[in-house]
Amino acid sequence: MRRIILISLATGIGFFCNGVQAQKTFRALAFYSTNVERDHVDFAHDAIGYFSKLAKEKTFVFDSTTDWANTNDTVLKKYDLVIWINEFPHNEQQRRAFEKFMNNGGGWLGFHVSGYNDKDTHWPWFVDFLGGAVFYNNNWPPLPAKLNVDDPSHPIAKKIPSTFKAPINEWYQWKPSPRLNKNVKVLLTLDTSNYPIGKKDIIHSGDVPVVWTNTQYKMLYMNMGHGDKIFTDPIQNRLLSNAILWMGSRVAH
Ligand code: ZN
Repeated sequence: MRRIILISLATGIGFFCNGVQAQKTFRALAFYSTNVERDHVDFAHDAIGYFSKLAKEKTFVFDSTTDWANTNDTVLKKYDLVIWINEFPHNEQQRRAFEKFMNNGGGWLGFHVSGYNDKDTHWPWFVDFLGGAVFYNNNWPPLPAKLNVDDPSHPIAKKIPSTFKAPINEWYQWKPSPRLNKNVKVLLTLDTSNYPIGKKDIIHSGDVPVVWTNTQYKMLYMNMGHGDKIFTDPIQNRLLSNAILWMGSRVAH
């Protein structure tokens, strides 16, 4: 009889453990906009669908909003990770709130045009945050491209081959390249065999980091994000899952 009680206790503990695992590990809030370039909205919708499903499987909180006014202290303090899907803060107040969030150890995952900045952006903090990268060039039309993994041992490269063909995207080149910044770790790069890439707009040569982190912050930038084909490749999908889960592990409470 005593043995039976022990077994049922063990079962109970097992169930309890499952319950513990089911607790939320981190809370992510994705910002996007629906009044931007159509291809950027398409990606936003696909990304929200993909990450919402992943959030259920991996038990983290994934919320999304088109209201950038939520970039304020009150809302941001409820989250560990902020995700920008093809947009960025709309005013100085939101910029300051985001800086504060990041300086206090928050996480950021940014896609595609969310990293865009040029001479008219006038946000030096953000350029520094991005690792010094300033938009320089892109290919047009959007095209698939061969990518190389810079560090196969990195968590976001788990079960990712050292080289793979990424689906159609508009790839950005940056000048200066973030690779020149000693605090930046480049994680994926456009293979030079893609050159020249584009027809109307062409990237002819040079270094094109595609995914990187500025190690001074809990941040990760991914250039993928143009159009409705981004989530059509299982390898890249895994990379995107790895990316959000890695960021989650850095900010989890
Ligand atoms: Zn684009």
